[in-house]
Amino acid sequence: MTQKNAKVTFREGRGAVKLMPDAGQALALERTLHAVNEAANWVSAVAFDHGVPHLYELRKHTYAELKSRGLGAQAAQHVIKKVRDAYTTLKANIRAGNLGKPGTRRRVKAETKPIAFRSEAAQPYDDRCLSWRYDAGTVSVWTVQGRVKNIPFACSAGALKTLQAHRQGESDLVRRDGVFYLIATCEVPEAEPYEPGRFIGVDLGIAAIATTSTGYKAAGRGLNRHRRRQLELRRKLQNKRTKSAKRLLKKRNRSEKRHAANQNHIIAKTIVTEAERTSSGIALEDLTGIRQRVRLRKPQRVPLHSWAFAQLGNFIVYKAKRAGVPVVFVDPAYTSQQCSECGHIDNNNRASQSVFTCRNCGVVAHADRNASRNIARKGEAAWTAGRESRVPATP
Ligand SMILES: [Zn+2]
Repeated sequence: MTQKNAKVTFREGRGAVKLMPDAGQALALERTLHAVNEAANWVSAVAFDHGVPHLYELRKHTYAELKSRGLGAQAAQHVIKKVRDAYTTLKANIRAGNLGKPGTRRRVKAETKPIAFRSEAAQPYDDRCLSWRYDAGTVSVWTVQGRVKNIPFACSAGALKTLQAHRQGESDLVRRDGVFYLIATCEVPEAEPYEPGRFIGVDLGIAAIATTSTGYKAAGRGLNRHRRRQLELRRKLQNKRTKSAKRLLKKRNRSEKRHAANQNHIIAKTIVTEAERTSSGIALEDLTGIRQRVRLRKPQRVPLHSWAFAQLGNFIVYKAKRAGVPVVFVDPAYTSQQCSECGHIDNNNRASQSVFTCRNCGVVAHADRNASRNIARKGEAAWTAGRESRVPATP
């Protein structure tokens, strides 16, 4: 049997590898990021002028110049590749329609000038220009001022274990809000999924971020309050429209995302741990359906961020895979209008945002609890149907 691997990326936030350089080390890192991104902007202009040539051709046009600017061979190669990759991604985004239709402002802007890199944008490092000393808790890094050794790093004990056992390939050096991070990639083996005895249905919502059919409820009050505050601030700043206001706004957005990611990690872990402990599978709604399903009055619509739900779903899937917990996605249709007791479907079954009252059997339940039970039942059905089709399909 082939061993499958789950790719894990240590981004900022929980599990991130945060660097704690002293003043001298920080200056060297800062100068390096500025130098490589200035170089990237130059390479980007060359690429744009040449109609974005293939990597080897772009190298011919730029490598010598980068070397003469004092970049090492590896750093020069990484800069060129980073630029080429950015154009590949842009092209894919344009093709996927993520930048709008031809002729729209955003798309024209993206197509008519070279890709720009922030002065502290991420720079990839391979093992030749970055080495880890896990026991000492330090890294040594190539910089424009030579190799800087013994830069202390911090991460959780769990993250350190994963790094030590599974880190592979490149790590990105990046600075966010004044803090340097290493974004490391690990290939973590997935556990063989067990045969679940039952399914835990997970309903994702607004008032409660997540509700399970087994009684767990992640209130999300803190998260919503946090978002409302951020939103008020954003409105104030947007009215200002100054450069510093914009910068502050971006910073706030990032801190909001980090906060949500923290919450999502905790929620995902709670759900997966319970599933593992009770030998259950996890049933989630197909996430693409969430926005359509959650219909709210205007003021409530505000804290809804589909990315936060998608992220929670991803965290659950990833943690479940590592633990061997089976996950199934179910069709979200009618999960909130159907009675989990008698199966009756009625648009009027839902008396309010929070209360479910069945017009057929009269059962009254929390709306999200009712939905989570429907999801669990659908998950069980999907698993059973899948088992029948899976068995002969196994290679
Ligand atoms: Zn009913």
